[in-house]
Amino acid sequence: MDNSISYGADYKYIPATSVGSGIGMEVLPDIYYHTIQIVNICLVGKPNSNEFVLVDAGMPHSAEEIIAVVEERFGINKRPKAIILTHGHFDHVGSIIELVNKWGIPVYAHELELPFLTGKESYPKPDPTVEGGSIAKMSFIFPVAPINLGDHVEALPSDGTVPFMPGFQWIHTPGHTPGHVSLFREEDRALIVGDAFVTVKQEYLYKVFTQEQEISGPPRYLTPDWEKSRDSVNNLAKLKPKVAITGHGLPMTGELLTSNLHLLVTDFDSIAMPSYGKYINEKFQ
Ligand SMILES: [Zn+2]
Ligand SMILES: [Zn+2]
Repeated sequence: MDNSISYGADYKYIPATSVGSGIGMEVLPDIYYHTIQIVNICLVGKPNSNEFVLVDAGMPHSAEEIIAVVEERFGINKRPKAIILTHGHFDHVGSIIELVNKWGIPVYAHELELPFLTGKESYPKPDPTVEGGSIAKMSFIFPVAPINLGDHVEALPSDGTVPFMPGFQWIHTPGHTPGHVSLFREEDRALIVGDAFVTVKQEYLYKVFTQEQEISGPPRYLTPDWEKSRDSVNNLAKLKPKVAITGHGLPMTGELLTSNLHLLVTDFDSIAMPSYGKYINEKFQ
C-alpha cells in the first residue's frame, strides 16, 4: 500500500447508471470492453495471456468489478502490464488508486494530462448550465480535484508508441481535456477513442440509460475547448477507423461508423457544440 498516492478531495461515488452497466463484449479477438455504470474500460491483449493492458480505470468504487473482469478474461491473479489513460476525468480514473496499489503497475498518460494526475491542477468545473439533459444538470457534483499518482504515472513515449500495446499509436486529441489521447492501430483500423467523441448523447439521462446509439461530440458539460475538439474529431475521422470503442456508449463499426463520423465532421456545430453554456458564452465576452 502506497500512502503517497490518493484521490482528489472531492472524490465520491456517483449515482448514475445505464442498461449496459456490468456488461462487456469482445469487439475484436484482443479487444474487450466493459461498461461500469456509464463509462467503458477496455482490455487490450489476447485472453488468457500475460500480455495485456487496461485502458482507463472506471468509476469511483469499481475496483472490485474491474479486477473481476480482468481475472475472468485473463485468469485468476493476472494483472495488466500497465494502465493507459485516455485522460484523467473522474470517470476514467475512478478506481485507479486501488488498482495501482493491488497490481503495482505503471500508469501512462499524455504529458499535458500529468498535472491533473499528480495533484497539481484541477479540471475546470463542469458546466451544469450547458444545453442538455439531466446528466448535464447533475454534473456539478462530479469530482474535478486532481488525483495524485505520484511517480506511478509517466508520460507516454514521445515517439507515438504505446507501452505494452504493440501496433498501436497514441493520437493527441485535445479539447475535452488538454492531454486527451485516442489509441489507433493501423493494421485493423481499431480506434479506442476516449471521450474525443462518444456514441451516446452523454448529457441526457434517458439516452445514457438506454445507451441509444447516436454519434456525439465529447460530453458537453466537461468540454472547455470546442475548437480543439473539432480539430481532434477531424483528425480521428481522417484515420478512417473501422471499429471505434468510445468512453461512453456502445462500440460502433463499419459503415455505421463511417457515415456517423462523416456527419459529425460536417455538422460539428449542430451535433456536438451546445448552443449555450459557460464555455460557449465565454468566447463572446
Ligand atoms: Zn472525460
Ligand atoms: Zn468520460
